[in-house]
Amino acid sequence: MSDEMPKNEEEWKKQLTSEQYRVLREGGTERAFTGEYWDNHEDGTYHCAGCGLALFESSTKFDSGSGWPSFYQPAKDGSVETETDTSHGMVRSEVLCGRCQGHLGHVFPDGPNPTGLRYCINSASLKLEES
Ligand code: FE
Repeated sequence: MSDEMPKNEEEWKKQLTSEQYRVLREGGTERAFTGEYWDNHEDGTYHCAGCGLALFESSTKFDSGSGWPSFYQPAKDGSVETETDTSHGMVRSEVLCGRCQGHLGHVFPDGPNPTGLRYCINSASLKLEES
């Protein structure tokens, strides 16, 4: 993946599939149990499908039963950012890519040790680079 990031929505549309665009750029959510990675157990690093930034390591992935890939911590400080999301009558913490600000999913305080966090992420936002 090139280091060149799309500069506007027109360019994003060209680079992403329609499902990636809907999730990353429009804050959409894929249907549970339909994505590429919720049941994936390969080792590697999950990168942003938009800009290629390393977001999560497979070693922190766990089976949450939610139907979305779930991780208990980001790959690095700054891999992701969070923002308060009050849509759909709920107060949730939205997870965004730390580089391109693409929408990834949400983080909930009901994850496993050692963080107690559950990063619930759309497969469409991710690209696994197997190691
Ligand atoms: Fe990104």
